[in-house]
Amino acid sequence: MKITYPSITKGNPVYMKSNFWELTANALDWLMPAQCSACQARKTPKGLALCNNCLNEVKHRASYCQQCGCDFIANFDHCGRCLSKPPHHDECVSPFIFSGTMQELIWRFKYAGQYPLARVLAGMFAAEIDIENRPEAIVATPIHRSKLRERGYNQSYLLAKHLARLLDIPLLTNAIVKPKATQAQAKLSMKARQTNLRGSFAVTQKITQKHIAIVDDVITTGATMNEISKTLKKNGVDYVQAWGLAYRPELID
Ligand SMILES: [Zn+2]
Ligand SMILES: [Zn+2]
Repeated sequence: MKITYPSITKGNPVYMKSNFWELTANALDWLMPAQCSACQARKTPKGLALCNNCLNEVKHRASYCQQCGCDFIANFDHCGRCLSKPPHHDECVSPFIFSGTMQELIWRFKYAGQYPLARVLAGMFAAEIDIENRPEAIVATPIHRSKLRERGYNQSYLLAKHLARLLDIPLLTNAIVKPKATQAQAKLSMKARQTNLRGSFAVTQKITQKHIAIVDDVITTGATMNEISKTLKKNGVDYVQAWGLAYRPELID
């Protein structure tokens, strides 16, 4: 599918704030076009973060379960699993397929230390959010301090920080933390993932907002989102949205 851009229209506050995908077109762009954030080879059209080739390789998901976010192609909003045993979060927004340009950007952002990409990715994500249904506050998926030491930054927090600014939503920094280190999720079954994460998140302050979105870069089984949602709901939140930039059925969590 060829991406149409901008999917937001002029007059929309997101458009005005992010100026689409977050690169300000300025005089410098004329003199020295920016390098594409994904392939880092080709030059980008004025004001954009991606070259035309990479832009064409950003794939939107055709349809997915509106609650857990799983790949689900049918004329229903919810998959069978959510009808029988729904997760603690009420809604999922995960607009991109984890492939092509998105996979490259996330890999660079998460594993190659290119944290300034948070701005580009948040701009792409913000354009997909229904601002009529925006939450009262957002939180970033926390990571344990050992992982923070290893990576140097929490990619979800950086994404959330830019999203908060672009969408004009308060970010509850450190409202939820992960004091308990857990085993890597990748090789575990769904059930084992849930057991592994049980009780690993904690709220550090009174949360007064009733509608919260949790921000992460990638959603896989949704076990992390589920556990954080459970923790938020135990602490007075009524409605939780799981926001994951891309959905990948397995491996990364
Ligand atoms: Zn490119
Ligand atoms: Zn579902």
